[in-house]
Amino acid sequence: MASVRVAVRVRPMNRREKDLAARCIIQMEGTKTSITNLKIPDGVAGDSMRERTRTFTYDFSYDSMDSKSSLFVSQEKVFRDLGSDVLKAAFEGYNACVFAYGQTGSGKSYTMMGLPAKFDAEMPSETVSKIHLVDLAGSERAEATGATGVRLKEGGNINKSLVTLGNVISALADMAQDGGNPGLKKKAVFVPYRDSVLTWLLKDSLGGNSKTIMIATVSPADVNYGETLSTLRYANRAKNIINKPTINEDCNV
Ligand code: ADP
Repeated sequence: MASVRVAVRVRPMNRREKDLAARCIIQMEGTKTSITNLKIPDGVAGDSMRERTRTFTYDFSYDSMDSKSSLFVSQEKVFRDLGSDVLKAAFEGYNACVFAYGQTGSGKSYTMMGLPAKFDAEMPSETVSKIHLVDLAGSERAEATGATGVRLKEGGNINKSLVTLGNVISALADMAQDGGNPGLKKKAVFVPYRDSVLTWLLKDSLGGNSKTIMIATVSPADVNYGETLSTLRYANRAKNIINKPTINEDCNV
């Protein structure tokens, strides 16, 4: 039994965010990631505002906002922590999966491409392993993208896969929480793997035979507050999934 390992990574401000004079709302300390909502009316005096900070704890919180900061986490560090473990697991005969989840432009592809190509082809012949590197579609809501026509329809399909992925994660998280309490009668939880092609293909990586890592990528900017908070919550839920990785032994070798 192994929990899905969950990491959050924040990228540097991009040109658009700098042009908008966006303020940074993400702080990281150790394994904790905090997000601050800079503008919440306090409900008492009409014009005054108060800030609200929420803190989440993950397996890793990677601050990649400023390469000059002593806290800066490089591609190499992310690879050393997560990528090398995935390869080690695959060489040992486990299936392995890395998901990158987050809004478009938050750094999913950037983080995934950190794996050097010299390793993702040459597997030892004694074991058979699958490594899934899943660079998911942007997690933002379809209406926020401004897409119309065919693109809107595509967005709808992509969104359905991500919604189903969220439902699968929630069902698995509920199951794991019940299982962790011996006093509770085990609830039969239905896991809707078949509701999308994405979740059906990744069945083994979610609550199945796989060592799985989810990397949630976020923007540091206040202009993306809503999407970033929803990504942090999604990743928080994924921490509860328990997989059952076992070595694939190939009896024919
Ligand atoms: P996504 O795959 O989530 O849509 P990308 O990986 O394409 O996003 O990243 C968007 C932009 O931000 C790219 O130009 C990428 O180089 C840059 N970027 C993302 N993450 C980082 C990072 N950690 N450090 C530096 N640049 C980054």
